[in-house]
Amino acid sequence: MTRRTFVIAGVVAAAGVVGRRLRRAHAAEPISLPPLPYKADALEPFISSRTVELHYGKHQRGYVDACNRLLEGTDLAGAPLGKVVVASANDPKRTRLFNAAAQAWNHDFYWKSMRTAGGGGPQGELAERLRRSFGGADAFRAAFLESATTLFGSGWTWLVLNGDRVEIVNTADADTPITGKGRPLLTVDVWEHAYYLDYQNRRADYVNAWLDHLVNWDFATANLRGA
Ligand code: FE
Repeated sequence: MTRRTFVIAGVVAAAGVVGRRLRRAHAAEPISLPPLPYKADALEPFISSRTVELHYGKHQRGYVDACNRLLEGTDLAGAPLGKVVVASANDPKRTRLFNAAAQAWNHDFYWKSMRTAGGGGPQGELAERLRRSFGGADAFRAAFLESATTLFGSGWTWLVLNGDRVEIVNTADADTPITGKGRPLLTVDVWEHAYYLDYQNRRADYVNAWLDHLVNWDFATANLRGA
């Protein structure tokens, strides 16, 4: 390489670096796949690592990727995920974006709604709210199980704060309470992909295990306090 071509090559390389930096500065930050709050085997034996790996690594990642594809070049590119969900809800031109964004949001909330050695019941203020709204922890448990097992098709069962009451809400498909059905405290995913490998069609067994061994009441209590 002559000295002249060496200098030109250097200038071209430098221009490339600057160009990439400028493009990066102007590119909207994509929606990222949040890390799981625990290892894939943390919910065993109630939810297998195989289910978690597929559910997180394929289903949730698929929703995040679809969301980024559909956001590209739109006015919502770069917006936080929760804002994308709310802005695309009830917009017939953005149904696919809403479905992808809401499913990405719901799944992150679902993982956080569980923990190793969860279950039992809440303490303090949330226990008192369950008593006032349902008559007690056992009545809440029965109502939640009934709601989750009778939801027809795919969807989510939630505990939400609505005004000063806690309520159980079912949402179909990708629908989510953050579009106006209350502040979510907990959720269980009752799409078949959440439990089919471990429980086949026995959704009630999955929800019973979720209530007895997985539900993360600390997360619900933090949400109640607005954390
Ligand atoms: Fe799911």
